[in-house]
Amino acid sequence: MENELQSLEAEAKKSLSNLEDVKQLEEFRIQYLGRKGQFSTIMRSLGSVPAEDKPRLGQLANSVKSEIEKLFEEKSQNLHRQSAQASSGSGPDLTLPGRCPAPGTLHPITKVMQETCAIFESLGFSVAEGPDVEVDYYNFEALNIPAHHPARDMHDTFYVGDSVLLRTHTSPMQARVMESQDPPLRVIAPGKVYRCDSDITHTPMFHQVEGVLVDKGISFADLKGILTVFTQKMFDKDLALRFRPSFFPFTEPSAEVDIACVMCNGVGCRVCKKTGWLEILGSGMIDPEVFKKVGYDPDVYSGFAFGLGIERIAMLKYGIDDIRLFYENDQRFLSQF
Ligand SMILES: [Zn+2]
Repeated sequence: MENELQSLEAEAKKSLSNLEDVKQLEEFRIQYLGRKGQFSTIMRSLGSVPAEDKPRLGQLANSVKSEIEKLFEEKSQNLHRQSAQASSGSGPDLTLPGRCPAPGTLHPITKVMQETCAIFESLGFSVAEGPDVEVDYYNFEALNIPAHHPARDMHDTFYVGDSVLLRTHTSPMQARVMESQDPPLRVIAPGKVYRCDSDITHTPMFHQVEGVLVDKGISFADLKGILTVFTQKMFDKDLALRFRPSFFPFTEPSAEVDIACVMCNGVGCRVCKKTGWLEILGSGMIDPEVFKKVGYDPDVYSGFAFGLGIERIAMLKYGIDDIRLFYENDQRFLSQF
């Protein structure tokens, strides 16, 4: 009888571990644990064992049966849970699209910078890049801004050393390019510039593109033509241009250039402060004094130069009213471009 119980226990455990679904559970219950099942049969045969063995064998039979009942209960819970998951569909859904990492986009300043360079390259300009850390000579002296010239006050300059500074404009490239090349030349110089200034329309670092064109017989009309093509391509609109007399030490005559407001088409709005015009760049005919410093003959050659702010163009192009948004690295802002 003892052997019978042990082999029944082993057999029950084995078939329990082979059960695969809820239906087989019921078959197992009937075969082993039911009223006519194998355990009941053994229990009934306890009546015929010798009296002195009864308590021991009875105890053994009970403990084996309750062990099997416990295992059966666990198995039953597992199989029911599995079948509930399968029918409710809460398992992995293989038809879902995969999770992709968010791809980066070009910064709006980078985009406008690239677009600006592409427009001027299509007009025959080549691109030259110069150093961010510049010497006083190229930033000021070569551009007809000698020491103590009042124009230096307009540049809130970061000085690195005695006559070394962070360039305050891309104009030093005018002198550098003209020094190293003979006319005719048409070059743009994009890059970062630095001024000690920070508010809603100024950041300590911003981007400019300098343009310079020198040849025989260049006039103000050529400047106007080039800038008209540039604004039309950049803003995708036929915008009116307005030249306002201004002063820069390295151009003569000098002009600030306005375009008809891109928001209201010149009618007048908050962005253009009701004037209908937006200032986008400074320009002028290169001063003969600058030509003399780089060894060009001002009686033979003439040329124009202009410098435009990339942040300014990007703000107008995309309708952005706070320049600081460009430098806060807020994903919600940057992912719109
Ligand atoms: Zn306007």
